[in-house]
Amino acid sequence: MATTEKPREETARKAEMSNLDIVRYYYDRAVDRLELPDDLRTVFWSSYREVTVQIPVKLSDGKTHTFSGYRIQHNGARGPYKGGIRYHPEVDIDEVRALASLMTWKTAVANLPFGGAKGGVNAPAGDLARSEIQAITRSFMNKIEKILGPTRDIPAPDVNTDAQVMAWMMDEYGKLHGHTPAICTGKPIALEGSYGREQATGRGCVYMFREAAPQVGLTPAEATFVVQGYGNVGSWAARIMQQLGARMVGVSDATGAIRSDAGIDADDLAAHIGDGGKLTEFPGAEVISPDDLLAIECDVLIPAALGGMIHEGNADRINCRMVIEGANSPTTPRADQVLHDKGVHVIPDVMANAGGVVASYFEWVQNMQHFRWSEREVNDKLGGVMRKAYRDVSARAKEETLSLRDGAYTLGVERVVEASRARGYV
Ligand code: NAD
Repeated sequence: MATTEKPREETARKAEMSNLDIVRYYYDRAVDRLELPDDLRTVFWSSYREVTVQIPVKLSDGKTHTFSGYRIQHNGARGPYKGGIRYHPEVDIDEVRALASLMTWKTAVANLPFGGAKGGVNAPAGDLARSEIQAITRSFMNKIEKILGPTRDIPAPDVNTDAQVMAWMMDEYGKLHGHTPAICTGKPIALEGSYGREQATGRGCVYMFREAAPQVGLTPAEATFVVQGYGNVGSWAARIMQQLGARMVGVSDATGAIRSDAGIDADDLAAHIGDGGKLTEFPGAEVISPDDLLAIECDVLIPAALGGMIHEGNADRINCRMVIEGANSPTTPRADQVLHDKGVHVIPDVMANAGGVVASYFEWVQNMQHFRWSEREVNDKLGGVMRKAYRDVSARAKEETLSLRDGAYTLGVERVVEASRARGYV
């Protein structure tokens, strides 16, 4: 699970543009391009349903703390609402709105039969005991279960929530409705979770890389890459890139950054951190400042930490040919323009990190069928969906001379509008 440190870079991002403003900016460009009228601009921007609940929980200090929990269902025209639940002290309704809307466009770009949602609780998960997180989770589920369901709204893990949190959610829901594994995804394998789900977001980033590499003249086996944020997404992306023969020449997490031109072994680093070691104490690499990490000359940069880490203040130092956005909204619009002007091929979050929700969809399908697929089957199907998404977006971008980000948003918004029209909503 993620730590709750508040990095300097994120503060800079908040000053430049909020998460909600970033998503709105790209949404508006897509709406303009599709020439949708203003009444529809409002319909497809605003959320279908926003629920805020009170979560009072007695913590180990003997006091009852009152947290706020949110579940926002942004758009369900294409299917049940789908999106993660985040525990972080800075969670607020605007951030959840932004992430819910991003999920609507992401599921549409991947062509999944889902809508978009997001949830969050403003609890400092990094400072709480597991028993306290369990109490918050059960209380939250109790308050929001009325709007959830396997054909209504299906939560998943996000920052500071994991398979264990999903197991508690499923268990709590089951007390009221009977055993319902399809109520959430990202569950433990022992509780009808899916093989391959844990690695899926990182693996999806690598499928995108393989599609894009020939377009920018890169050979995967000879590529060098840098990863910002060595958590679930970053470490799996790195390990799978390495399987292709690519070399990791720089990496960071919340504790610091390291580099080595000879290469940092992604599996050994994951094991070192898994054993409680600090990234900056990994043998054979040079400790550098997090700011210098982005300036390392490499073929591929994978931001996989938090939102807004690539901003106007550092985008110019970036020295790579391709950026694959593992994190959500890691690049501010001004930084995006700088990268575009430098000729960097940016694969945006709305498609690059869709692997997680695609594997969640597979988990849901398996749960609905009470059947289990092999990891190989999951990975192969994931590859098929990710490749198709890349090709669909690429074709659209080429057709209208757009960036991949603008192409993806245009395609995503268009698909949601089409489904809404077919239902007779607009
Ligand atoms: P995680 O908590 O497992 O990992 C986050 C990593 O970022 C940790 O290693 C942490 O130390 C590091 N980090 C935090 N602050 C940093 C800083 N200032 N500089 C460098 N590293 C820093 O989280 P995750 O699940 O890997 O998610 C990472 C990002 O990917 C988030 O933006 C999340 O919304 C997005 N995402 C995750 C998934 C998924 O399936 N896990 C799917 C889609 C998008």
